[in-house]
Amino acid sequence: MGTPERTPEITLHRGDITAAEVDAVVNAANSGLMGGGGVDGAIHRAGGPAILEACRELRRTTLPDGLPTGQAVATTAGDLPARWVIHTVGPVYAKSQDRSHLLASAYRESLRVADEIGAATVAFPAVSAGVYGWPLDDAARIALTAVREAKTAVREARFVLFSDEVYAAFARAAQSNG
Ligand code: ADP
Repeated sequence: MGTPERTPEITLHRGDITAAEVDAVVNAANSGLMGGGGVDGAIHRAGGPAILEACRELRRTTLPDGLPTGQAVATTAGDLPARWVIHTVGPVYAKSQDRSHLLASAYRESLRVADEIGAATVAFPAVSAGVYGWPLDDAARIALTAVREAKTAVREARFVLFSDEVYAAFARAAQSNG
């Protein structure tokens, strides 16, 4: 309330998002919200059972069918240094269908939820760029554009990228977008 909307400062880091000291960490979850591999598994492992319990509660109450692709929802971050986890579901990459709008939506909706809970610093992984198969350069370009164009009170959007390859793709996309 009263915080002006602006473009967040975008920073790129190479590392493990579970260690990020931010208000909220974004999880590349799946619709079921019951945990999984990749960054999802890492967040649940490091954050402990409170996160899964909060996800179960969401499934029992507001999200009986799970979280739709492109949307986001917040839970406790359990034992993580962050205060909240914002779970979002990116689209599975498909050559035959352009699902970029759903990937952009995952970032936009995560920032909207961050505003709702009052998170000023938010760490993002490369959503859909792992098991969901998105080509890295494209995933990076869509991510950076979506965050840059978002109207939000979030002060810092920190991309925490797990490998040199993903980091390099984001660095290239950041350069080519000025
Ligand atoms: P998706 O199913 O959306 O593709 P994944 O978790 O498989 O999600 O991959 C998304 C990205 O998260 C990949 O670039 C993967 O390398 C990265 N990743 C995996 N573990 C971590 C972690 N601990 N911190 C940050 N990024 C991670």
